[in-house]
Amino acid sequence: MTEQADILQPLPDALDKASAALASGRLVAFPTETVYGLGASAMIDEAVAAIFEAKGRPHFNPLIVHVPDSATAAQHTVFDERASLLADAFWPGGLTLVLPRRPDTPISLLVSAGLDTMAVRCPAHPVAHALLERAGPLAAPSANASGKLSPTQATHVAASLGTGHGHLAMVLDGGECAIGLESTVIGLPLDGPATLLRPGAVPGEDVEAVLGYALAKAAPHTSNDDSTQGRSSPGQLASHYAPDAPIVLNTTQFDENDVVLAFGAEPCPLPKGSLNLSPSGNLREAAAHLFSMLRLLDAVAHGKRIAVMPIPMDGLGAAINDRLTRAAAPRP
Ligand code: AMP
Ligand code: MG
Repeated sequence: MTEQADILQPLPDALDKASAALASGRLVAFPTETVYGLGASAMIDEAVAAIFEAKGRPHFNPLIVHVPDSATAAQHTVFDERASLLADAFWPGGLTLVLPRRPDTPISLLVSAGLDTMAVRCPAHPVAHALLERAGPLAAPSANASGKLSPTQATHVAASLGTGHGHLAMVLDGGECAIGLESTVIGLPLDGPATLLRPGAVPGEDVEAVLGYALAKAAPHTSNDDSTQGRSSPGQLASHYAPDAPIVLNTTQFDENDVVLAFGAEPCPLPKGSLNLSPSGNLREAAAHLFSMLRLLDAVAHGKRIAVMPIPMDGLGAAINDRLTRAAAPRP
């Protein structure tokens, strides 16, 4: 298994090849509306193990299982009324539900990283959907090296994981991801309140409007050692989504040692090479540009720091600030 993985247009022939590769236990990177995923058949232990190996992902960090519809999710998890309500409102889309595993599910235990729960999401992207229809449930984290920036274009996948990797059969190219931020993760324990485990593509306020009450909030993670038992969402390391350059947040004064990631109106002429997430201050546009602009700034930083202007916390701003805070956290 040493051949190069190709970047392919998602035509029917490539989708057939991709589902054959998945059935044989290999990995396929594919576009979703949030970020590119690194997919493995969720039923094949060796294939799921290969995801952890390809990403260098810690084994205590569980994976999201992507499903074609809520009926499939209900075959594998205890899909209660709250789950049905949220799936009806937000699926297909950028919302992940963490639910108790059904004892008889054939989904690999590795996706749950030792927990008795499973994260499920039905993505909206037509390529992801076509692949799930052919290949069945796919375990798929973001298709990047663990701890690094998430990929929002097919070329980012190749740059982060390398296409010479033995396990990666191909990358399906669906263009740029429309949302550009990972899914919102909501925990629905049988005996506990609906909990926001990770802010993301669907604003928490929108989820609360459908539920009719406020979400409980998971305790923020301040450590990079996440092997501790008992955490509600063990994958939320303090340092994550990190560019190579140092990064500082909430800055409005810059000097020649900075390249700037601006948002909205620029307070002064910015240093050469700086970029603006959304000159008009639109949070959707900013979310879609976040990871690709951090990549571009990282490439021109050459020892400088990336200085990020303040970004409001409403709507997608909560998820953007969550990613930036982790990107700026002390590295392990
Ligand atoms: P990623 O696949 O990188 O988008 O990360 C998925 C995240 O979802 C993980 O890092 C966890 O924080 C969360 N997650 C996935 N499965 C579970 C689970 N069974 N219980 C709690 N959180 C989960
Ligand atoms: Mg990720």
